[in-house]
Amino acid sequence: MAKYRKKPVVIDAFKWTGDREQLEDPIWIVEAIANGTVTIRSDCSSDVKLVVKTLEGEMTANRGDYIIRGVKGEIYPCKADIFEQTYEAVGCENCKGKGRVWDCVGEYYYDCPYCSV
Ligand SMILES: [Zn+2]
Repeated sequence: MAKYRKKPVVIDAFKWTGDREQLEDPIWIVEAIANGTVTIRSDCSSDVKLVVKTLEGEMTANRGDYIIRGVKGEIYPCKADIFEQTYEAVGCENCKGKGRVWDCVGEYYYDCPYCSV
């Protein structure tokens, strides 16, 4: 029998802390909240949760989980330990992972807007 391995796919993701410590707020999560795909649920009796509508039904993210946007734009949560076993960071294409972008003559640079190296 032939053996197969998964092709590497690049996904967008961020760690959701659900508090003021939240460092990243990508535009796609802001849009998903605006259009109702993602809901922030909190009541006094339990901690804040992020509820994501997916094709398989509602998935709930707890603080510290990663929120992933897959290749087809689908959003789903992932437990941090599983995420860290499954994914590794890839270099930013805008700045080639340097965190800085130089002007055309190499005199000035600015921080890359796409990553925070
Ligand atoms: Zn970059």
